[in-house]
Amino acid sequence: MMNFKPKILVVDDNINNIYVVEELLSDLDVEIVRAISGVEAIEKTIQHEFSLVLMDVQMPGMDGFETVEHIRQDPKNELLPIIYITAIYNENYYRTKGIKTGAVDFIAKPIIADLFIGKVTIFVNLFKQRKILEDEIRRRAEVEIELHKAKDVAVEAARAKQQFLSTMSHEIRTPLNAIINTAGLLREEDPRPDQLDNIEIMLFSANNLLRLINDILDYSKIDSGKFEFETIDFELRKLLNGIRQSFEFEATRKALEFEIKVDDAVPAVIRGDSVRFSQILFNLVGNALKFTEHGKVSVFIGVNRVLRGYTELKITINDTGIGIPEDKQQFIFESFTQASSSTTRKYGGTGLGLAITKKLIELQGGTLGLLSEVGQGSTFIITIKYENSEKSHIEDEMLSHNAFRSLKGLKVLVVEDNLINQKIVMKFLSKWEASTDIADNGKIAVDKALQNQYDIVLMDLHMPEMNGYDATMTIRSMEGEYYKKLPIIALTASAFLEDRDKIYICGMSGFIIKPFNPTELYWKISPFLK
Ligand code: ADP
Repeated sequence: MMNFKPKILVVDDNINNIYVVEELLSDLDVEIVRAISGVEAIEKTIQHEFSLVLMDVQMPGMDGFETVEHIRQDPKNELLPIIYITAIYNENYYRTKGIKTGAVDFIAKPIIADLFIGKVTIFVNLFKQRKILEDEIRRRAEVEIELHKAKDVAVEAARAKQQFLSTMSHEIRTPLNAIINTAGLLREEDPRPDQLDNIEIMLFSANNLLRLINDILDYSKIDSGKFEFETIDFELRKLLNGIRQSFEFEATRKALEFEIKVDDAVPAVIRGDSVRFSQILFNLVGNALKFTEHGKVSVFIGVNRVLRGYTELKITINDTGIGIPEDKQQFIFESFTQASSSTTRKYGGTGLGLAITKKLIELQGGTLGLLSEVGQGSTFIITIKYENSEKSHIEDEMLSHNAFRSLKGLKVLVVEDNLINQKIVMKFLSKWEASTDIADNGKIAVDKALQNQYDIVLMDLHMPEMNGYDATMTIRSMEGEYYKKLPIIALTASAFLEDRDKIYICGMSGFIIKPFNPTELYWKISPFLK
């Protein structure tokens, strides 16, 4: 391990004494450095690092004690072990003086060989050990620096990943927006039955793709600890109606019995994240229908416990499907895991759904359990608590598609650089008979807002020339009450919370995620009809 020889400084004005010491230590693996005066000794201690100094006391000029006092002034030699070699060490005066200068030992002349070699060996070994420890400390310090660097790299990589996902989600959602909405428009234009089939397939696939993108985004947000939940009042029974409607078609197609029951004890209105509530049920009910060929899928919601200010629900999703083998049950909650590799071939899926579902439940303080038997079916059991609400019902905000009233008289400025997106928004708006105007970028929007009176602005965020944030801030800074109050709603493809914060900070009134749901667009803009 040690690839150098420890050095020993031997100080004596009589060179013959030095020879004697050298002879005595000739078996040790050390390098001896000679000094024949105090001054020379001081110089040598400045140049070298010694494991030990053997110091003659009586020397002409500077004696041993004085020399050591000088040596000690160099901070690196404060603890350097020094042994005095003296004929008169028994005298008290010398002993005290020697100890004051930090001597570790005295050796009497004439030197007794074994004793001397033994003592020197101890110090040389101590020195070697100190060196090993110093090496180790240095090595660890280096490792620590490497670890810090590695951590910085990892943090940067995570940030880059987040950035990449945010950009990609934008890039993918924008054309997807176009596909889903165009297909939606086609479906409403009285297609022939064979065309309708194709449109349905297109919509189904596009929505699947959208789900996948959302899953990956959710997963990465959960992964990076950036997930936040909303707390709003919601009517659970109404959400469940939506879920029932969404899956009814699939259940009928597979000739499965499908039922959702809510116990009367469950409060009408509860507070929590309604979007995540739906997402959790969508995933589990979706799986239940996917993995069941005969029999029944049923959802039951009851009260598990009543806590102070909270109601803990117990939600059971039961199916009579293929079931999950016992040895696979613990793994299916991990990301990208499916119970068998044939699952992907037969049923599709990414294996992210349950991982996200479980995390979503646990991050809200709940639990997700599973009972399953192959061939008999599976039961997923959720317990999750929601805040009690003071409300007993919520004003209807989401009516059915057919219930759209005319928006005649509503003046909307659509700010959007993408031609296809423009067309889609405009088609819906004109269908609802709103009057519309278009701006291709933020700059044109600002000019138009100066010249016209709009009831509402729909603002894309990423545009050439001037982006949506800057355009909004410019409009808000204009003279007059109208510009402070004009509703500006962001059209954003980004699901990231940071971006949402930015939307509010720059003065926008709300946002709609693209690809937008026409119903949501309708209910977000219709209140501004005077
Ligand atoms: P995927 O997107 O592949 O469905 P999930 O995470 O939702 O991913 O599910 C993981 C795996 O767990 C599925 O591939 C399937 O093997 C199994 N699984 C989930 N739910 C059920 C169920 N109700 N019945 C049988 N198997 C299920």
